[in-house]
Amino acid sequence: MNESHPVINNPLLSAMLEPLRIVFIVNPNSGTKVQQRIGQSIERYLNHRKFLYSIWHTAYPGHATELAKKAVEEGYQVVVAVGGDGSINEVAAGLVHTEVALGIVPAGSGNGLAMHLGYGRNMDEAIKRLNAAEPVRMDCGFLNGRPFVNMAGVGFDGMVSNLMQGQSFRGFIPYFFQSLKAGLVYQPKDCLLEFDGKVVEERCFVITVANGVMYGYNMSIAPDARIDDGLFSVVVLKDVPKWKYFAAVRSVVTGKIYEEDFVDHYTASEITIKTAGENYVHFDGEGARYEGDLHFKIEPKCLNVLAPRNGPYYDSAVSS
Ligand SMILES: [Mg+2]
Repeated sequence: MNESHPVINNPLLSAMLEPLRIVFIVNPNSGTKVQQRIGQSIERYLNHRKFLYSIWHTAYPGHATELAKKAVEEGYQVVVAVGGDGSINEVAAGLVHTEVALGIVPAGSGNGLAMHLGYGRNMDEAIKRLNAAEPVRMDCGFLNGRPFVNMAGVGFDGMVSNLMQGQSFRGFIPYFFQSLKAGLVYQPKDCLLEFDGKVVEERCFVITVANGVMYGYNMSIAPDARIDDGLFSVVVLKDVPKWKYFAAVRSVVTGKIYEEDFVDHYTASEITIKTAGENYVHFDGEGARYEGDLHFKIEPKCLNVLAPRNGPYYDSAVSS
């Protein structure tokens, strides 16, 4: 018996049977700490005929981007961000303009993109959904050259993200309190929005430049956004009177924010926002500060992402 197995002799079949190389990038300090048992969950729920896995841990901010680039160089086919929108942002920054697919296991605050793609918010469930996910190409946004995948924002949201930066404890409760704090001190600014050859003057409390639909916690700030149409949904919350804050939050939760009289919304593939002084901004919930013009540009279909089959996004992408 010297013959090799007929399947092994067929290069096409053996390529089909070859498991995909997948690496999970875990921030051991982020979010809700459930990711500390990620190894057990992967052992138990990942389809090991389909995937050959590794787990890498991050050690400092920005490390996830370096690790994602390393995974690309080493020939991994899937890189999974384990964490919240901030972790996804870092991993995606290492994968843009490659064929390597981004997967998500939500384990952190937020998880807006994970919810939109249909990974849910439970770690074990998300690993099962990875087993039955298909690559689709999504758009990426860039703010002054730095990428984001779900949304970026200017103003009040940016201040909240900057306040959250120093917090070791994440989740809805600290987010809620930092929002209240920022709500008391943040003052709306005059701003100019330049897009499609137009200039629009606004009084701006928050400007959200959205690729995806929602913040975490199922809050739809840009209900009409699509991650694959080559356009941003730009949502401006104007000078929101303090007594209308709760109305604003309720409308975000119910997906009816565009109906409020303190909201304007636009679509654009490129937009420049001009305001005086320093601006609080966020990239997928990670805070930063900028002086000068804020230039947003979309790059259509620049990232491969695994979308769970039967998830809300996959269904809409297949039917459209
Ligand atoms: Mg879009």
